[in-house]
Amino acid sequence: MGKIIIIGGGAAGMMAAVTAGERQEVLLLEKNDRLGKKLFITGKGRCNLTNACEEDRFFRSVVTNSKFMYSAFYAFDNQSTIEFFEKAGLLTKVERGDRVFPASDHSSDVIGIFKTLINRNPNIQVLQNTTVTDILCKDRRVTGVCLKDGRRLYADAVIVATGGVSYPLTGSTGDGYTFAKGLGHTVIAPLPSLVPFELKDDFCKELMGLSLKNVVLSVRSGKKRIFDEQGEMLFTHFGISGPLVLRASAYIHPYLNQEITMYIDLKPALDEQMLDDRLLRDFEKYRNKDFRNALSDLLPVKLINIIVKRSGIDPFKKVNSITRQERIHLINCIKKFEIQFHALRGFDEAIITKGGVCVKEINPSTMESRLVKGLFFAGEVMDVDALTGGFNLQIAWSTGRLAGLSCIEKEDNMEEQTNEYSN
Ligand SMILES: Cc1cc2nc3c(=O)[nH]c(=O)nc-3n(C[C@H](O)[C@H](O)[C@H](O)COP(=O)(O)OP(=O)(O)OC[C@H]3O[C@@H](n4cnc5c(N)ncnc54)[C@H](O)[C@@H]3O)c2cc1C
Repeated sequence: MGKIIIIGGGAAGMMAAVTAGERQEVLLLEKNDRLGKKLFITGKGRCNLTNACEEDRFFRSVVTNSKFMYSAFYAFDNQSTIEFFEKAGLLTKVERGDRVFPASDHSSDVIGIFKTLINRNPNIQVLQNTTVTDILCKDRRVTGVCLKDGRRLYADAVIVATGGVSYPLTGSTGDGYTFAKGLGHTVIAPLPSLVPFELKDDFCKELMGLSLKNVVLSVRSGKKRIFDEQGEMLFTHFGISGPLVLRASAYIHPYLNQEITMYIDLKPALDEQMLDDRLLRDFEKYRNKDFRNALSDLLPVKLINIIVKRSGIDPFKKVNSITRQERIHLINCIKKFEIQFHALRGFDEAIITKGGVCVKEINPSTMESRLVKGLFFAGEVMDVDALTGGFNLQIAWSTGRLAGLSCIEKEDNMEEQTNEYSN
């Protein structure tokens, strides 16, 4: 029976280990002192482990190389993920946006399931505090790995599940990219994604802590509409963050070398006419007040100063003397509140890495390298990424599962061939 080495004890590596371990001898190597360090912090410690959506939404939510995911997802889809965990004893619940969490709200319970499955299986051996430094290969076939302490471990198949480069303190430091490049693979330049934005505007500090609900964020590069969605966002000391911004970040990468402008519609439920009617009502209510004191019913306090400034209307002007022309300009400031994109925040704050091992060089039906026999990839190390909502972990489960299954099948085929020859 051949041995399978898995590099990386994160979501994809652990799934690959329990799958391959059903039939094969597996050695799971993890550089941290424990398994699933990143998994522990997912979903703010609650682990949004998948999304209970229909399959077309899953594929739409995979932003990069969704077609590559067809085989892996059909072999082990979001329903399979839920069944897998429930069968192993982890109750799950579905929340807003079809996001699936452990019923306990503890990501540690997800890790606990894997620990139990691994400990219970004599086929699986785990080495923690073990860093792989190289993958060994002979005649374009994998033979094993090199460890940091100089040891060499031999295997018939190696699954690279080392993750990306985001949140590097969790152990994902891009080692898989180095291994893949060394073996002739193309690595698409890694970029931070699902990440906050820095703004050029100097009013960020003034707005810091301001949380906006039900606003529309529009992102433009020249005439190109990159993103238009409604949701929640937040001003920080450097720029903007929150669910809406993280989603927008998934689409912005092709435009990073160009000028990017963003607009916030602060009142998307009101069209221009409705907003004008609303302003007239508020101005009537605050008839004898200065303009700067007449917007508190309409806007959050932190925004009033800047909107007043942008409107060009004298802050001390009595509201009853504001002209229609001035109102039109004010409406434009509220419905098209302009902010200037400066940069993405770094990998330290990025939920995922966009880029990675080029999927054209990986067989989507097996996760095996097209360049090196016996070399497999699983999870975020590959150039596949998705929106928030449980989709990235689903990618890790589906590809980890398929890589594990393919190793077993490969071994079975080899055994069959050996039997044929010996008969
Ligand atoms: C803060 C945060 C919250 C998130 N929340 C969610 C969420 O709720 N839902 C969701 O779907 N996704 C979420 N994600 C994304 C998700 O966590 C990742 O997409 C997923 O963990 C990728 O799994 P992976 O197994 O490919 O990589 P990882 O989980 O990064 O695991 C890779 C493992 O490989 C190990 N390793 C690396 N190099 C070596 C080496 N040379 N030798 C030995 N071991 C090595 C690392 O130590 C690590 O343990 C979140 C990410 C972050 C950062």
